[in-house]
Amino acid sequence: MPCQRWRRRSVTEAQVMELVMTLRMAGVRDKDVLQAIEKTPRGAFLSGIFKDRAYENVPLPISCGQTISQPTVVGLMTQALELDKRCKVLEIGTGSGYQAAILSRLSRRVYTTERHRPLARTARAVMQELDLTNVTVIAADGTLGLPDQAPFDRILVTAAAEDPPAGLLAQLRPGGIMVLPVGQSDTVQTLLKVVKLEDGYDYQTLGDVRFVPLLEGMAEDTPE
Ligand code: SAH
Repeated sequence: MPCQRWRRRSVTEAQVMELVMTLRMAGVRDKDVLQAIEKTPRGAFLSGIFKDRAYENVPLPISCGQTISQPTVVGLMTQALELDKRCKVLEIGTGSGYQAAILSRLSRRVYTTERHRPLARTARAVMQELDLTNVTVIAADGTLGLPDQAPFDRILVTAAAEDPPAGLLAQLRPGGIMVLPVGQSDTVQTLLKVVKLEDGYDYQTLGDVRFVPLLEGMAEDTPE
């Protein structure tokens, strides 16, 4: 019924506006980042009953026992990357693909790796559905980075390591920025922004976050 369709769309628009307000209050001020989040339907990266909760500012379950990040965390991490349209970006931990989709709207090229093959497959399909053609989803152990495509202008890790992985820092271009959660995986972690200088690194902490652990090796997924 046309009437119902209209109602549904206007509700979504109101929810998007509310989410943008929440992002602003959490410190996401970058207009391009806010616009990228506004334009990306988070529901497309969720399934079943969770689709209806897409615009709540909470992390939600996805398959393989993983989670899609909280929108404010996605906003703050993306803002910290200081992206521009010339950037080649590597993301570790595709999960649903939502964060990669946001990155894709603000960069030239995005490579994203995921250790669960089913998640990588689903994320690839959603990118196609949304016509995001500058994202490549790769089923791989992200702790190794992506040597074939290195160096990267930006690296975003969306799973928690104890320290910034040395292999990833090595794949960052001088002047490049890496954002990642660090700390023990079962507690609150610290969000870290690392800038690679000609002769070392500059570190800045951005607050507390909670991510699933960065695990080595591919996951042993049962065939669907
Ligand atoms: N960026 C995701 C949320 C991150 S969830 C989103 O937007 O939905 C963290 C993801 O990191 C999980 O899917 C987990 O499987 C993945 N992960 C953990 N260790 C990894 C590794 N070594 N290589 C690649 N992915 C990894």
